[in-house]
Amino acid sequence: MTDSSRLPPGDWPDMQPGWVWLCGAGPGDPGLVTLHALNALGQADVVVHDALVDDRILSWSRPGAELIYAGKRGGKPSAKQKDISLHLIDLARAGKRVLRLKGGDPFVFGRGGEEGQTLVQHGIPIRIIPGISAGIGGLAYAGIPVTHRDVNQAVTFVTGHDRRGRVTGVDWAAVARSSGVIVIYMGMKHLSAIADDLIAAGRGPDEPVAIVAQATLPDQEVLETTLATCAADAETAGIGSPAVICVGRAALLRQALDWQSLAMGSPPRNADPLGLGRPVEDG
Ligand code: SAH
Repeated sequence: MTDSSRLPPGDWPDMQPGWVWLCGAGPGDPGLVTLHALNALGQADVVVHDALVDDRILSWSRPGAELIYAGKRGGKPSAKQKDISLHLIDLARAGKRVLRLKGGDPFVFGRGGEEGQTLVQHGIPIRIIPGISAGIGGLAYAGIPVTHRDVNQAVTFVTGHDRRGRVTGVDWAAVARSSGVIVIYMGMKHLSAIADDLIAAGRGPDEPVAIVAQATLPDQEVLETTLATCAADAETAGIGSPAVICVGRAALLRQALDWQSLAMGSPPRNADPLGLGRPVEDG
């Protein structure tokens, strides 16, 4: 049954035994969890979660719920994808209400598609609950809009890893041409090679880059750098994963929109970082 005491009035769906809900938990800050996710946490018998799901969010599970860690993280030993999917099937067949909780959005570089497909192939009923993806919400917490009319009409989201953890079969030359703003997930390990490929394909070495690590969390770190220097700067600054990398002039907007610094009383570093020489107009 839905524990409606912590949800606004509404017709919240009941989780039925034997179902698996594939759900996004957002990039980290518990305030970015959706109401559907909160509803699910209040009902699930089992919560199967990733490393990227914050403990504060897990603490909202129903008392007595079983928490199972099924993390997958670049470079670290982790459960195999097949094992995770089969475990979900076993739990559902045992009549549990299963919440598969993933960082960000389950369908954005989260293997939610694969898990959902396996469940469907085994006849397990599913529900999908989207979440705020790190490549959008994480950048917003750093004051970086992924689109802006004076910067880009398109944005590319790309992964820096393939399923074996190596540099992807991504065509970086095509990515370089694809859009003014490129948002790279899982890109820290191969940042140097990725930046080289983008420059070789014609992106400017001086092009702005922002790296947002632990985005939306209390220990969020942001490195403002350039394409040519980002890998060395990240190493010097000790910035590691998880981090999203934003390539393109959108990164400059942080100089005006770093709302966390503004909230602490700092003036904007530059109210016109795009050098438009005019006030931004609505409409
Ligand atoms: N499904 C997730 C992405 C999973 S892939 C989503 O939609 O956000 C894991 C990658 O996501 C990390 O390597 C990193 O690039 C990014 N990521 C996830 N959480 C993050 C966070 N709090 N801060 C920065 N990057 C994050």
